[in-house]
Amino acid sequence: KLHNMVLELKGNIRVLCRVRPLLEKERTVANGDASSMPVRVMGEEALRVAAVDNKPEKDFDFDRVLAPDEGQDKLYDEVAALVTSVLDGFNVAIMAYGQTGSGKTFTMEGPEGNPGVNLRALADLFKLAEDRTGAFTTTFSASVLEIYNEQIYDLLVSGAQDGDKLDVKQGPDGMYVAGLKVEEVRDMADVTALIGRGKSNRSTYATNMNEHSSRSHLVLSVYVNSTSKLNGTTLRGKLHLIDLAGSERLSRTGAQGDRLKEAQAINKSLSALGDVIQALQQRNAHIPYRNSKLTRLLEDSLGGNSKCVMIVNVSPAAENVSETKCSLEFASRAR
Ligand code: ADP
Ligand code: MG
Repeated sequence: KLHNMVLELKGNIRVLCRVRPLLEKERTVANGDASSMPVRVMGEEALRVAAVDNKPEKDFDFDRVLAPDEGQDKLYDEVAALVTSVLDGFNVAIMAYGQTGSGKTFTMEGPEGNPGVNLRALADLFKLAEDRTGAFTTTFSASVLEIYNEQIYDLLVSGAQDGDKLDVKQGPDGMYVAGLKVEEVRDMADVTALIGRGKSNRSTYATNMNEHSSRSHLVLSVYVNSTSKLNGTTLRGKLHLIDLAGSERLSRTGAQGDRLKEAQAINKSLSALGDVIQALQQRNAHIPYRNSKLTRLLEDSLGGNSKCVMIVNVSPAAENVSETKCSLEFASRAR
């Protein structure tokens, strides 16, 4: 009870930071050994970034800092309680923020054999629903969409990029995307098939999947209906699992045409997200949800009776320290 109250006072937003390990290809002289790394985990809730760009060394603290050797299970432990609250009718958003290459997709999706938040969350939900079949009938459905250049694309429909533009609407049960395909999922096999279809549709229109995925927000949404066998009332909860576009700033030179347009769209939606979170934390009367498709979609999943986890992913490498610091500053503002 007290825990809930504390969460509420903090605007229901939990901010985690995850530092990925140094990659094999980064183990160069420039990056040095562990003792000279520019990003150091100082404890369970703190990390320190070395002096950079003429700014002194700086400490940051978060609700939890995950060190490079903490695996997918540890990360999931930090979000599990929020995930399962969806069964009780809460709306929850879990998002991975950070520059390209910082570990967002590793965190949400995970490599084959080492699943991230998405599959762990679904497996957890199915198991808990199973455990309470005596009291509730629970049904699940899901959708996969992408926001690219401030447009929403349905990834469960092939060729969606040529089709109608989808829009976020407000309905009696909250925010929804009109015309978006939402399909029932009964078990993990259904989930993996659905995610697989989303991925394959995404790759058919992206000429360079790596570049494309760093420039769009990917949203896997799970919709849960729990109907009480005792009195027939239904609780509706929603879980958005979001792999955000790369937060890196555009280099001052070079970007033109499509690249410039993409960068502006990303910039717009990530700053809109930051503004919404900040307005919620400050208990402002006006929350600027309408400034981007992403924040509009999340209108009923940020603030109010909903819960949100922002996972800020950072690289430990010296070459990334400047972006790392920007990501940490952004995430600090969310607290
Ligand atoms: P992003 O999605 O932010 O662009 P990725 O998730 O693709 O970044 O991660 C970049 C690289 O770092 C990948 O090779 C990935 O496997 C690796 N990586 C990221 N996070 C971790 C981690 N926690 N443990 C091990 N490897 C990681
Ligand atoms: Mg990625």
